[in-house]
Amino acid sequence: MTNQECIFCKIVNGEIESKEVYEDDNFIGILDANPKTPGHTLIIPKKHFRNILDMPTTLGNELLEATKKISLKLIKEKKAEGTNILINNEPSAGQLVFHMHAHIIPRKKNDKITF
Ligand code: 5GP
Ligand code: ZN
Repeated sequence: MTNQECIFCKIVNGEIESKEVYEDDNFIGILDANPKTPGHTLIIPKKHFRNILDMPTTLGNELLEATKKISLKLIKEKKAEGTNILINNEPSAGQLVFHMHAHIIPRKKNDKITF
């Protein structure tokens, strides 16, 4: 299930370079090209879904597991104190890339990041 026009499908297929920091059977984790904070990671399903509303619920456990693993790794390696986990669904919610992805944003007290 690949969408030929989709930038994240091209990243999954290795046609566009990215800094991959995580991989399991159904997801990859890459560093965001325009990070909100150092270590800002995107978890992307290998198959093309428009957003989480289009993704099978059966992938939910694996997504949650990846989210937790990457959050804990960022807290350890980036000395973050916490993370925001964010999924934008549809343009009105700020979705710009129409291939499902979850943002994991490392946070520190007083980092002055706002949403
Ligand atoms: P959205 O608003 O759709 O949730 O966010 C899309 C995210 O994808 C943005 O944070 C943007 O910086 C990131 N992004 C867009 N194109 C690329 C790319 O080609 N490579 C990487 N690593 N990140 C990208
Ligand atoms: Zn895609």
